[in-house]
Amino acid sequence: MSSFSNGLFSLADNLIGKLFGGFIICWHDLSSDIFIKQVESLYPAKPIPLKELVKRHTMGLSTQGLFAMTFDDGVGETVRNISQTCIKKGWPVTFYIPTDYIDNGVMPFQKLGVINDFLPNDEYLLPNNTNKEVPYKLNKDQIIELLSRSLYTERLEFLNHILNFYIDKISELKIIDNIEDQYPKPIEWAEISKYSKYSNLSFQSHGASHAAVVSLNNNEIENEMLRSKNIIQENTNRDVHSFCYPYGASQSISKEARILASKYFDSAVTLLPARLRNSNPYYLPRIDLYEKNSTLVSRLKVFR
Ligand SMILES: [Zn+2]
Repeated sequence: MSSFSNGLFSLADNLIGKLFGGFIICWHDLSSDIFIKQVESLYPAKPIPLKELVKRHTMGLSTQGLFAMTFDDGVGETVRNISQTCIKKGWPVTFYIPTDYIDNGVMPFQKLGVINDFLPNDEYLLPNNTNKEVPYKLNKDQIIELLSRSLYTERLEFLNHILNFYIDKISELKIIDNIEDQYPKPIEWAEISKYSKYSNLSFQSHGASHAAVVSLNNNEIENEMLRSKNIIQENTNRDVHSFCYPYGASQSISKEARILASKYFDSAVTLLPARLRNSNPYYLPRIDLYEKNSTLVSRLKVFR
């Protein structure tokens, strides 16, 4: 075990083990090495399957010293590496996958990543600018800022219209040969089926299109929930019981979505960072950890 569990952080050990309720961790992409270090630094807290943690929570049983591990977005390399690690270690893990992305889509925030990496620093018009007299221009930072904010609440058509405008700009300028190669490749259905044979690996719904549910009407939300649930169940032969709200922020999640999630799932998770206290099972908090977190930081962040 890491040095953190040898008394240096005995106070933290006490807090993790005894005084507080359990928690759900969320990662997006990180290497197996960092993942192992982060999980081991949480010892003596113990990872258990998400389904079991949610069950204990909803039944009012103690979740002290327990946590569930989740990975969002279904990026191929991450799911492969983390699955291999969890198979070796016997650790339970849940992957929340947006099913349209697995079917070879690309998600808006991935386009934004490419714009951030490759659009030259300059001033640009916004698409559909109707004011020909005084064209309103934004610099690159302003464009990135505007789009990052919009992802959390706006409709996909609107986002893609603006994102594609700048992606086309990068193509026109011939900055990179093939933009498609820049998007992270998703895990494939055949691999999802293969990994689903391991009882400690679980694939759950992150919607279909990864649109913020607040941008969708009730029919669209229901469609996303059911479509993703069915296709994952078909490919895994396992129950899909949990939903992960895309973007996970309070402004991205409508009350209607929470009600609909309760119709089709046993739980739904957000990215609101906290432990499981009196949390609504359809609005569960998660603690997000990133590659840059040292084991110490990962340890301290769970106290938020
Ligand atoms: Zn996501």
